[in-house]
Amino acid sequence: MDTLVKTPNKLEFLHPLCGFVDKVCSFSCLRSFNQEYNKYFLKKSHLKTGSKKGFRVKAGSSSAILELVPETKMENLEFELLLFDHSKGIVVDLAIVGGGPAGLAVVQQVSEAGLSVCSIDPSPKLIWPNNYGVWVDEFEAMDLLDCLDATWSGAVVSIDDHKSKDLGRPYGRVNRKQLKSTMMQKCISNGVKFHKAKVVKVTHEESLSLVICNDGVTIQAAVVLDATGFSECLVQYNKPYNPGYQVAYGILAEVEEHPFDINKMVFMDWRDSHLNNNTNLKERNRKVPTFLYAMPFSKDKIFLEGTSLVARPGLAIEDIQERMVARLRHLGIKVKSIEEDERCVIPMGGPLPVIPQRVVGIGGTAGMVHPSTGYMVARTLAAAPIVANAIVRYLGSEGRHLGAELSGEVWKDLWPIERRRQREFFCFGMDILLKLDLDALRRFFDAFKGTLPLINMINNLLRDKE
Ligand SMILES: Cc1cc2nc3c(=O)[nH]c(=O)nc-3n(C[C@H](O)[C@H](O)[C@H](O)COP(=O)(O)OP(=O)(O)OC[C@H]3O[C@@H](n4cnc5c(N)ncnc54)[C@H](O)[C@@H]3O)c2cc1C
Repeated sequence: MDTLVKTPNKLEFLHPLCGFVDKVCSFSCLRSFNQEYNKYFLKKSHLKTGSKKGFRVKAGSSSAILELVPETKMENLEFELLLFDHSKGIVVDLAIVGGGPAGLAVVQQVSEAGLSVCSIDPSPKLIWPNNYGVWVDEFEAMDLLDCLDATWSGAVVSIDDHKSKDLGRPYGRVNRKQLKSTMMQKCISNGVKFHKAKVVKVTHEESLSLVICNDGVTIQAAVVLDATGFSECLVQYNKPYNPGYQVAYGILAEVEEHPFDINKMVFMDWRDSHLNNNTNLKERNRKVPTFLYAMPFSKDKIFLEGTSLVARPGLAIEDIQERMVARLRHLGIKVKSIEEDERCVIPMGGPLPVIPQRVVGIGGTAGMVHPSTGYMVARTLAAAPIVANAIVRYLGSEGRHLGAELSGEVWKDLWPIERRRQREFFCFGMDILLKLDLDALRRFFDAFKGTLPLINMINNLLRDKE
């Protein structure tokens, strides 16, 4: 979790994202955006040493609510890992680069089938940092209900001050420690080998690939899977990349009180009366709207996130914070302490990677973010068996396909033509959302009785197809 780093007069970490994305959007390939952004956040995290819970520094005028600096949490799981022994010159069946939810799900499933797997990540034991929210039925379908640490019977959308609707679909927060532990446990008992490093490059020979790490180690594998999320380390793109950006700033906070029903989560609160005294901010919010997403855990503990659904260029986090501070004040939410904070930048839509290509991909790196909602965890976990089964099938019993032939088959299974068409349709949905101001967005979400148009329609479509 990142931590606010403050100077006497301003929140120093805040990057003028707007201008930044503006600039990089003109590049023919925007992969560098993610690298630059990651670099930026990494730089920021160097600065946060020494922060402690409750530590107060004087901040800028509008940020009073956010003055509490959260404790830096980098919790590791207590597992003994089997380490990859590179001195033996072994060729593993599969090298997976990136141990996020996407990568680990495939590691687990391919190793279960008896293939040899090496999982490469700079921090394999680190508990994932993001606060994931999912629909309960999606986790139920994957038998993962025990990996939710809070659930709500409904998800509320407030269109304006007078109208709100309950989507009537239970929602949950992922217990990321439990989810990662469950997966790791299975990986360890399946004999998965771990290598703690960053991958810098991959080269290919006819029937195997060489994965080169930043510690000088080279790992040989029949197949390489890139699961590095938005770092998009190895997978190649060849089209101009111009995604929309979902940008959000969230805090897990202890508050004096809040006005929300603790049985429902707030999926989208589009009300803007908190900006009535600030014409400038209200006009900015009208043009590029933000909403509040909230998970109330109890009367005094709540996750609050100011979110820009999608914008191009992405909205500046400082802008989102300013609106969120005004909203919390208007709602009478007094923050006592901040346990965690999260800055979220999710590229949405844009082209798919080159299909096929020698390196296989899953998750953020493989275009799997939902182009009009930004959701991905449940989709990725549901897609992991497709990738895992394809690898097992083509590498294993049904005759060993190798090299480009094998990767081609895996890509075909992951992105068959119908799913690609479907994704184009979702990207079209994102392009519509990009054009809507607050009034239009309200009409859009209000037009569907009891459901959210894109989210539910698309989820239903996906379920029908898969
Ligand atoms: C703050 C935030 C909140 C989100 N919330 C939600 C949500 O509520 N619901 C939802 O459905 N989706 C959410 N998403 C979107 C998406 O689901 C997540 O980004 C998800 O973590 C993506 O999973 P992943 O495994 O593809 O990538 P990641 O989780 O990003 O994992 C990538 C892994 O690869 C490693 N890695 C990166 N580069 C290298 C390298 N060169 N060599 C080796 N390892 C490398 C990283 O260390 C990391 O462990 C959120 C995203 C963010 C950023």
